[in-house]
Amino acid sequence: LEDNIAKAEGWLARLRETGVRHRIDGEDCESEKSFETLSPADGRPLARVARGGAGEIDAAASAAAKAFPTWRDTPGRERRAILHRIADGIVARAEEIAFLECLDTGQALRFMSKAALRGAENFRFFGDRAEAARDGRNLPSPTLMNVTTRTPIGPVGVITPWNTPFMLSTWKIAPALAAGCTLVHKPAEFSPITARLLIEIAEDAGLPPGVWNLVNGFGEDAGKALTEHAGIRAIAFVGESRTGSQIMRQGAATLKRVHFELGGKNPVIVFDDAEIERALDAVIFMIYSLNGERCTSSSRLLVHRSIHDEFVARLTERVNAIRVGHPLDPETEIGPLIHPVHVDKVASYFRAARAEGATIAAGGEVMEGAGCYVRPTLFTDATPGMAIAREEIFGPVLTVLPFETEAEALAIANGTEYGLTAYVWTENLTRALRFTEKLEAGMIWVNSENVRHLPTPFGGVKASGIGRDGGDWSFEFYMEQKHIGFAT
Ligand code: NAD
Repeated sequence: LEDNIAKAEGWLARLRETGVRHRIDGEDCESEKSFETLSPADGRPLARVARGGAGEIDAAASAAAKAFPTWRDTPGRERRAILHRIADGIVARAEEIAFLECLDTGQALRFMSKAALRGAENFRFFGDRAEAARDGRNLPSPTLMNVTTRTPIGPVGVITPWNTPFMLSTWKIAPALAAGCTLVHKPAEFSPITARLLIEIAEDAGLPPGVWNLVNGFGEDAGKALTEHAGIRAIAFVGESRTGSQIMRQGAATLKRVHFELGGKNPVIVFDDAEIERALDAVIFMIYSLNGERCTSSSRLLVHRSIHDEFVARLTERVNAIRVGHPLDPETEIGPLIHPVHVDKVASYFRAARAEGATIAAGGEVMEGAGCYVRPTLFTDATPGMAIAREEIFGPVLTVLPFETEAEALAIANGTEYGLTAYVWTENLTRALRFTEKLEAGMIWVNSENVRHLPTPFGGVKASGIGRDGGDWSFEFYMEQKHIGFAT
């Protein structure tokens, strides 16, 4: 741990000195205002961050508009080559990215060490599709040769949250660049560090100035200004459902196209014929990895009553054995939560559980001392109407709900405002087909935890999102479809 902290401090030293600045049109820029990004492990300031507002957003949007025609017309194979070089640059700095991401977010190194590589993979995947993204179709009629083409929509805004910020930024930015869009990125104020590394890597890889601009700041000023800017054609947003509604209102006057990846309260449903050992591993992994600060986490466990007691007993034992510790300790499974404000939110559900009459089978408390540490928590004896069973807590907190029948399981699973993911454990294929057909979720895994495959669609229904990412779905958002009819 001591060695890892020293290593991270080495990388941080440069940012401490310069601060985390904006990057607009290939230049570093300061703002009159600034704020500090804090270490969730001990609350100390990590670096000073420029706090942009409407002026910086306007400069960045102008740079993106100026760079757009050239980037749009850059041949696909050249854009592909640059995206691959960005991926190479990420791989070369993967350790630095992982260590600084851990310091800035509190995520455990054992999970973050792979996040940078996943980010590189996003650039390779979408880079490989840059040429074909424009492909059109020929739809002839008796009197017309009908041709369709696709063109990039224009400069776009990308707004990202604080959970796994590096990976999520690449997930949004790589397809935008592959499509031929230019962009302004506004990262989350709680975790701005790795977004700065990412744009440095992109420019070192030969991305022309102004194609990608970075403005740091808060949602209510920089974020708001970006969504309201007339020169920005679309907003790709990942964050809370409530913020999504605000962005829709803010973007209404300029008719923004929006793509939203929002909150979730995802169910994992374990039937009595499930392979218990595998199900148990997956249940643990999907809520107690990444600090539970994960949009696709299974935060509600629906378990058949006949196996409930045994399953919960084994689960409790496992939850109590989870190692909570410093994010840079290789042994750590759960690190500190992002910020004291978020600790307060998660702790409010510990109180709610007690007040509503649920049982706290494990955890349920904020840990003493410095840092944003909470104990991994398991709520049992809950009912579907309780706040702990309906609201997104976004921490290492699992609520168990027993069920008797398939119909009851379905009603509970669908009984929240969200619909991002769901997980079903049963050996009965007919039941799996019947059940998944009726589940209200954008993504469902049967007998598996969440395993991301980039060509597949990613996104949610109901309050969990609008639109899909992945494969060609990403290009549908970042591009306009055009039809041209030639008389024959
Ligand atoms: P948040 O909505 O508070 O903030 C996200 C981003 O939006 C930040 O950059 C913030 O500055 C900005 N923002 C806030 N108010 C804004 C406004 N009025 N206008 C423009 N921008 C504004 O979310 P968070 O707390 O950072 O992230 C956690 C949330 O993200 C959870 O709800 C989680 O489920 C969700 N999430 C969803 C997915 C998904 O794929 N569905 C992935 C990751 C996270």
